[in-house]
Amino acid sequence: MLFGRKNKNPIIIRDKGVVDWKYSTCGYCSTGCSIEIGMNEEGVPVTTRGVGGADVNRGKLCIKGLTEAQIFDSVGRGTTPKVREKRFDNWQDTNWDTALDKTAAEFKRIQEKYGRDSVAIVSTGQIMTEEFYTLGKLVRGVIGTNNYDGNTTLCMASAVSGYKRSFGSDGPPGCYGDFEHTECLIAFGSNLPEQHPIIYWRLKEALEKRKFPLIVVDPRVTMFAQFADMHLPITPGTDLVLLNSLAHVILKEGLADMDYIARSCSNYEKFAATIEDYDPVSAAKICGIDEDTIRNVARLYANANAAMSIWTMGINQSTHGSDGVCAINNLNLITGNIGKPGGTSLSITGQNNAMGTREWSSTSGLPGYRLLEKPEHREEVASFWGVDPEFFPPKRGLTETDIFPAIETGQIKALWLVATNPMTSMPNSARIRKTFEKLEFCVVQDCYQDVETTQYANVYLPGALWAEKQGCFTNTERRVNLTRPVVKPIGDSKSDFWIFTQLAKRWEQGLKMSFPEDTEQAFEEMKQLSKGENRMLDISGMSYDLIEQKRGIQWPFREGQDEGSPRLYTEGVFQHADGKAKLMDMPYIENNERPCEDFPFWLNSGRVVEHFHTRTKTGKVGNCNKFSPTPYMEMNPDAATELGIKHMSYVRLVSRRGDAVVLVQTTQRVARDMVFIPMHYHDCVNRLSLGLLDPHSRQPAFKQSSVRIEHIDQKEAARMNVDMRAF
Ligand code: SF4
Repeated sequence: MLFGRKNKNPIIIRDKGVVDWKYSTCGYCSTGCSIEIGMNEEGVPVTTRGVGGADVNRGKLCIKGLTEAQIFDSVGRGTTPKVREKRFDNWQDTNWDTALDKTAAEFKRIQEKYGRDSVAIVSTGQIMTEEFYTLGKLVRGVIGTNNYDGNTTLCMASAVSGYKRSFGSDGPPGCYGDFEHTECLIAFGSNLPEQHPIIYWRLKEALEKRKFPLIVVDPRVTMFAQFADMHLPITPGTDLVLLNSLAHVILKEGLADMDYIARSCSNYEKFAATIEDYDPVSAAKICGIDEDTIRNVARLYANANAAMSIWTMGINQSTHGSDGVCAINNLNLITGNIGKPGGTSLSITGQNNAMGTREWSSTSGLPGYRLLEKPEHREEVASFWGVDPEFFPPKRGLTETDIFPAIETGQIKALWLVATNPMTSMPNSARIRKTFEKLEFCVVQDCYQDVETTQYANVYLPGALWAEKQGCFTNTERRVNLTRPVVKPIGDSKSDFWIFTQLAKRWEQGLKMSFPEDTEQAFEEMKQLSKGENRMLDISGMSYDLIEQKRGIQWPFREGQDEGSPRLYTEGVFQHADGKAKLMDMPYIENNERPCEDFPFWLNSGRVVEHFHTRTKTGKVGNCNKFSPTPYMEMNPDAATELGIKHMSYVRLVSRRGDAVVLVQTTQRVARDMVFIPMHYHDCVNRLSLGLLDPHSRQPAFKQSSVRIEHIDQKEAARMNVDMRAF
């Protein structure tokens, strides 16, 4: 029996002629899978496989990792630097000296005319940690603009902000190993099987060995929600209300760990007074989860010997993102579930090295979680780098989401983008497009020259890709892992590290300072800076060889330590000055754009398993692209019937910002008053999104805005759709 394959050719897996396997770490998501790249006789990477002995993925990879060898020579790779006088002129191929001289000269001209902060720099979560460190050294120590940020503001800023407010420092306190010990898990706004398939596989494996309640909080019936014991279909943007209410029940019913609170937490009285108002009856009216379910979940969580929470963008991408993170931390603090096996508050990070930029890039401060606001930190780094401490600003500058409005108002005149594509990733893309037109000078540094933002660039710098270079990534559970270079950078492209160090030489100050020769030397500098009493982010015991040998090491890993540290705060001592965690008291304030008569549907967005970010990579990999080649919209079948809309027809979506044409997929995964669109496609969901900002993290609320649905001529729509997606 051929199971439907009668008369079809059998699947043949061809021998790819692999003669050698080289160690690396997957360059896509923050799961941090160890990967081996298969090389053929000609030294060409032809395939990949998971590393069996690696603790993270234990031999497995998802579709993106399995097809990663195909990205080295995919279409759109940039192979030579390019310059042009004016935007939209034809590009001129050039050499590196010309491109870097022009970049430095324009930055200097603009800074001289408009001030140091008139040049803005936005980087990424995808280059090597050593490259982040070196970029930070260049920006903070040489160029000197304070308007420097990473695109991680679009995905992780609320987690960072929430950790800092609750625990006194960034740094996810738990690990994947916690799945093997927990007795109850709540996932907030996370579709783990599609976003982080290998982390989900680790969870599933733990569940197969030992059953425990799995609760998923999400407005949409995601794949994760379908696998859960309980699904709480929350009203978008109201997580804080649910979390305050869970805490209310736990305190009222005497289920809190009062010893832990007394020993390790501050601000209990104010916190308890605030959550007094969040009884389940009142909360249910706002968050849409009935009072019995709230009570039931609170009891399950508090009565478990160990309970853990995980979350991703459903929490972070909200006007209450930072508060939501603090409220998750509160839940774990009042139940004594921080720093113990199976008890944690674990933010699942997005990009492969979002953690690396948080730790070492100096975007929000100085390297190694140091703060610009602390004079002793400025002194320390200044003397290590050989910079006048007065050169550092006394507080952080603008975030990515504030940099664009500052370009609009003329405060910022030049922009350098490193491996990020705001034309697709920022909310309200029509406004972003207009903003780019105001720049006097724009540099795009990226592995791909067809990245949409190059349309507005004056200089294009081709960066090397992932395993064309050497360095480390830190994953969601603080594990530092290594990527070895398996091939030379394509054409005349160069590693980001090389670009940063060469650019530094174009300034007098850069010539005076000592920049590392290679990434391993940069890593040694970072190790020196990481040492010190009470320094949590200590990597001083690591080396490249040891990292590879152990398939990644979790920090802190001090000199002389044999094993990495799976958990933080194991003694109940935190990073606030008093050594305690702060229970944050946070009332809910309704401030989202909500469905109304003119725009009656919630617009939600998220990821699909085949694609990564703005598809610069996965959009060119056949096996990734063929499963999701075109933007689509999930719509409830009852709502579709009511509007006379058919499954697999095109519609036009309209918001207060703009419009987009999408293909309809009717499904019960979304409620009657909601539609869902994947976030990966250019000129699609972000033409519609509003992106109000969280006041603490400045992260946009991508997932809470409203739209209406209009009929459109099908032939015209199909043509527009093909034109818009053409690379
Ligand atoms: Fe790569 Fe993430 Fe897939 Fe692992 S789960 S193979 S790190 S994309």
